[in-house]
Amino acid sequence: MTRTYLIKPVLDYKYPAITHGDGIYLYDEKGKQYIDGSSGAVTASIGHGVQEVIDAMAEQSKKVSFVYRSQFTTESAEQLAKKISEISPGDLNWSFFVNSGSEATETAMKIAIQYWQEKGMKTKNKIISRWMSYHGITMGALSMSGHIQRRERFEPMLENYPSLSAPYYYRDADQRTIEECDDFYAQELEKEILRIGKDHIAAFIAEPMVGAAGGALTPSDGYFQKMKAVCDRYDILFIADEVMTGVGRTGKMFAMEHFNVIPDIIATGKGMSAGYTPMAAAIVSEKVMEPILKGSKIVMSGHTFSANPQSAATCLAVLNYIEKNNVVENSAVNGAYLKEKIRELAEASEIIGDVRGKGLFVGVEFVKDKLTKNSFDRALDVVSRIVQANFEEGLLVYPANAGTDGLIGDAVILSPPLTITKEEVDELVRRFAVALRKVERELS
Ligand code: PLP
Repeated sequence: MTRTYLIKPVLDYKYPAITHGDGIYLYDEKGKQYIDGSSGAVTASIGHGVQEVIDAMAEQSKKVSFVYRSQFTTESAEQLAKKISEISPGDLNWSFFVNSGSEATETAMKIAIQYWQEKGMKTKNKIISRWMSYHGITMGALSMSGHIQRRERFEPMLENYPSLSAPYYYRDADQRTIEECDDFYAQELEKEILRIGKDHIAAFIAEPMVGAAGGALTPSDGYFQKMKAVCDRYDILFIADEVMTGVGRTGKMFAMEHFNVIPDIIATGKGMSAGYTPMAAAIVSEKVMEPILKGSKIVMSGHTFSANPQSAATCLAVLNYIEKNNVVENSAVNGAYLKEKIRELAEASEIIGDVRGKGLFVGVEFVKDKLTKNSFDRALDVVSRIVQANFEEGLLVYPANAGTDGLIGDAVILSPPLTITKEEVDELVRRFAVALRKVERELS
């Protein structure tokens, strides 16, 4: 190829060019086939080339692709918002559409602050978040993120919102029970609220299961109930960042449904469009909308492409496809099967320390020593080795960090399209096992 003008993630790496996709498979220019075992960045939830979605996109573009939300509404945007209110828990009925997960969490943060302003509490404007979290790359979203490597360069311009631990029972240093850990996490939140002062805090934000900064870290059934009780005690809103976990990924429509806690605002993205268009949303409860509807009547946010009819029609077709084909159920069933198969591999493996997750969101953490849980030296870059070995085998896996300082753990996430069949899971596991053995040999 002649010189490139495209700024890619790693500028001196030669990325293969993908020519097409079909179901769970991608094909590059040399004809090599890959199982999209990560759905890209946990995004291509219904696989590639789904005809109904392609048809809906063509149909909408024949009508109109773009109108500006400050001038018009459209049937597709209205219908999408209605559909989201139907699939969301509790009174989460209102959607603010944006174009990326970062914008969704940042919009959620702004709406939480505005909620308190409309109620006359103008000092409630800080957010509490956790270390081992990722809420997005724009400055507001990065301020909330506890992902050290992604913060590092911009640290002086960021707010210090992360202060809490995320539940990471596998590495609990004090060997406490899960219940003791959860009590500790809730006390940590309470102490932080008391330190900052409840009149200065708008919301607590958390991923139901930590993605990029944890490798599908999965809380206990009771963790979020304890955290939400503290939020309620001190009048703090709870924002669930379901950008990665939302729309079926964990075997429920929204991951918070596993924990029986209804957030005040949900940020979602990725799976809601399944990658067919850039779209994301802040889903807002009636409770939060009420003072805004009675007050200024304007949610102070928005982007040129927010709620554009082309993306809305695309997402609507994705959600209809998910419903019609029982995709969420498939995620639960084949996700449990995938986890079971990876657990079997882990038993025979010297370097898999932990297998976790729900649905088709399975995290695998690698350790030098299964007994001590000591991690490998950073210099060995085990995650890159695992990702590369799988890539060579024709399997895409998603790299994640794990560890309270953002540096100690090596993890990957297996998150294939939610439409994957049992036989395809077997093939995915076969390729993963070959790659695993290769890395084990390199490290031994
Ligand atoms: N929140 C979570 C939990 C994410 O996993 C991500 C992206 O990986 C984001 C927010 C940011 O989304 P985007 O990359 O679409 O801006």
